[in-house]
Amino acid sequence: MPHHVIQFSGGAGSALTAVRVAERYPGEQVTLLIADTRVEDPDLWRFSKDVADLLGLELTVVRDGRTPWEVFADQRFLGNDRLAPCTYWLKQKPCREWMDEHAPPGDTIAYVGIEPNDRDRRRIAAIVRNWLPWRTEFPLADGPDATKDELLEEVRALGLRPPRLYELGFSHNNCFGSCVRAGHRQWKHLLATLPERYAHAEAKEEELRELLGDVAILRDRRGGTSRPLPLRELRLREQCAA
Ligand code: SF4
Repeated sequence: MPHHVIQFSGGAGSALTAVRVAERYPGEQVTLLIADTRVEDPDLWRFSKDVADLLGLELTVVRDGRTPWEVFADQRFLGNDRLAPCTYWLKQKPCREWMDEHAPPGDTIAYVGIEPNDRDRRRIAAIVRNWLPWRTEFPLADGPDATKDELLEEVRALGLRPPRLYELGFSHNNCFGSCVRAGHRQWKHLLATLPERYAHAEAKEEELRELLGDVAILRDRRGGTSRPLPLRELRLREQCAA
C-alpha cells in the first residue's frame, strides 16, 4: 500500500491537496510533511494544526534550524526573485532528507499543492524532475479550474478558518509575507498591512548589506537601468509619496 506524502506548506493549496488525497485513499498512510523556516506567521501553524486535526493526522515538521536571513549570510548571497537559496536549504533539503529516511521511492507518492490558477506545465515538469526518484502528483493543478477565492471558499466550507495572510490580501501564506521572491507590489503591501514585519525584513536586509555590500532583494529598473533597491529606500519612497 503506497505511502502518500503531502508536501504541505500551510497554504490553502496544499491543505486542499491533503483533503483530496485523504478522501481518495481512506485508511491509507498519509503524511503531512511541512518545513519550518522559523519565520512563518504563527497563524500558519494554527491553520496547519486545524488541517491536521480535520484529517485526523499529525503534522510532521522538519527544520534546518536557520532562518532565510541566516542562510543568506552563510551562503553570502541575498535571495531574490531569480534565485532564492532559502528554498533549497530550509524546505527542499530537510523534506528530502525526511523522505530518504521514511518514504522509500518505490512505495511513496509525493503530492505538491500547485493551485489551478498557478498552473504552469514547465514549472510542474521541473518539480517532477526535482523530486525524482519519487513519483509526484498534483491533484489541484490536474483538477478543474478554480480561482484563489474559490479555493478559499472551499477551505471555509470544510469548517477551516483560512490563514490570516490571505485575509490581509497576500496571495501566499509563506514566510510571514516576506518572501524574497515577491515583487515590489507585495513588499509595498507588506509595508501597508504588517509594517512591523516589513521593519524586521528591512533590518535584516541592512545587516546583509553590511556583510555583502550593495545588494538588495529588489531591483529598481526604472529609466532603462537596473540597480539594487533596498527595502529602506522603497519604504522612504512610499512614505514620501503618501
Ligand atoms: S517562501 Fe520565499 S523567503 Fe521563504 S523560504 Fe521560500 S523562497 Fe525563501
